[in-house]
Amino acid sequence: MKRFLRRNQKKHRYTAALLGAAAALSCVAAGVCGGCGIREDSSGVSVLVSVDTAMGTVVRQTVYTEEEEDRDVTQEILRRIRELEHELLSWRLDTSEVYSVNFSAGNEEGIPLSDSLEEILEQCLTVSRRSQGAFDPSLGAVTRLWKIDEWAGLESAEGYELPTEEEIQEALQSAGYEKLVLKEGRLYLPEGMQLDLGAVGKGVALTRVREYLEGEPQVKAAVISVGGSILTYGDKADGSAWSVAVVDPLDPSESLGYLALNGQWCVSTSGDYERYVEVDGRRYHHIIDPETGCPADSGLSGVTVLCGDGLLSDALSTACFVLGKERGADLVEAFGAEALFVDHDGEISMTDGMKAYFHFR
Ligand code: FAD
Ligand code: MG
Repeated sequence: MKRFLRRNQKKHRYTAALLGAAAALSCVAAGVCGGCGIREDSSGVSVLVSVDTAMGTVVRQTVYTEEEEDRDVTQEILRRIRELEHELLSWRLDTSEVYSVNFSAGNEEGIPLSDSLEEILEQCLTVSRRSQGAFDPSLGAVTRLWKIDEWAGLESAEGYELPTEEEIQEALQSAGYEKLVLKEGRLYLPEGMQLDLGAVGKGVALTRVREYLEGEPQVKAAVISVGGSILTYGDKADGSAWSVAVVDPLDPSESLGYLALNGQWCVSTSGDYERYVEVDGRRYHHIIDPETGCPADSGLSGVTVLCGDGLLSDALSTACFVLGKERGADLVEAFGAEALFVDHDGEISMTDGMKAYFHFR
């Protein structure tokens, strides 16, 4: 059976409006035109819209709620995402647990983990094993060497220096999920190893937001995006599907089409078109192939993964970007997820299950 539907990019030029995130919200709140604001629809449900930043990226929220107007649930969601970053996941802020864990590298006694971080790392390691290390949360020494996050988006790359082969090989020595020991609630990081949970943090945030919303019965529905990861929650009053646009990685001001979803999904996109540095006409992006220590070169420009769990959708999109479309499709299948791949020449392919959700424009 043929797994992929193929289309040539030239056969369809896309006409959608500019969409900020890798996969983006589209038409989720009829009548609300971006920015922040509250409006009431005809059934008395308030629609809260907010745009903020957390985890070094943009957080967009559209929340349908029967809430009194003096309580803004979007600000509570934002507070929780920032708390997750500051207290648990950031490898930059000295207030977080990951920061302390990284500081403990080389300590033979290891470091005790909170239940939250233990659970996250166990999930990460499952994806690492099944992806044969294409997704690897222990790559911090290598990702820091490339400094892509610091340079991406700047007008000029003047002053940016590519790491040398020697530096890359040395940093790779410190990485490798198989060398990371997680035992009886303690983590033992070898000397020099640094965790980098940048490939899953936004997905973890989505799962946390969903857990919070499940305890807030006045919230009827929501769509939340944290950078390239999007949560759909609840059903729209008119029963129609949520529409999540998939950006064209070859022209991020356009969309390829959209996913029509009900309120139970997490969608994550990884690509080479947002965080990169260009040196001598060559693009160096932020997703590293753990085998080479260099930006992955699997022939893909973007991957969008659809899954019930946020951490998994985020981890799988990164892993698929490294693995390429054939091996990536096998991986998502093993997790019961779906994926859409766009390669460098604009060819689109997707898993069979994705065809039920994705619509070309
Ligand atoms: P994804 O594909 O989901 O992830 C790519 C990121 O994962 C890379 O940037 C790298 O960090 C890591 N990675 C690369 N290769 C691999 C691999 N093979 N396996 C596993 N991981 C890999 N950005 C800022 O500019 N400033 C900030 O202060 C900042 N703080 C952040 C705090 C948190 C808690 C998180 C989760 C992210 C933060 N970011 C920040 C963004 C982060 O640096 C990444 O750029 C971002 O998470 C990339 O997400 P993505 O969806 O584009 O790509
Ligand atoms: Mg990811």
